[in-house]
Amino acid sequence: MEYKEMLKRALSKVRKTDETERFEVPAPEIFIQGNQTVIKNFGSIASALRRDQKHLLKFMTKELAAPGYCDGQRAFFQRVVSKSFVAKKVDNYINEFVKCRECKKPDTKLVKEGRILILKCEACGARKSVKQV
Ligand SMILES: [Zn+2]
Repeated sequence: MEYKEMLKRALSKVRKTDETERFEVPAPEIFIQGNQTVIKNFGSIASALRRDQKHLLKFMTKELAAPGYCDGQRAFFQRVVSKSFVAKKVDNYINEFVKCRECKKPDTKLVKEGRILILKCEACGARKSVKQV
């Protein structure tokens, strides 16, 4: 029941980051639980970005300046933040770790070369090292 509702919401709230792009990332679905912020569709966001949930989690805990963990689709952070704040951080992640710097397309992957993380574009072939999270 709850899972179905979650799925329905995730599907209905798909937004575009840019009018001209086909790249679609679900808007964060959040709720506050005590002094925690829960992102209900964290797993869907990570998979829409084609990124490891753990990598996104690490980035988010740093950006939100709060410890966090994943439990299935959900992510929990030990701080109360707004939905727009979370959405902005996801956008930052996209700009830093998903979008190609050259062609701005999201058809990229992160590859590790030694200790360096490289954002490799599958559309134009550009390579750029990214910061560690
Ligand atoms: Zn590119």
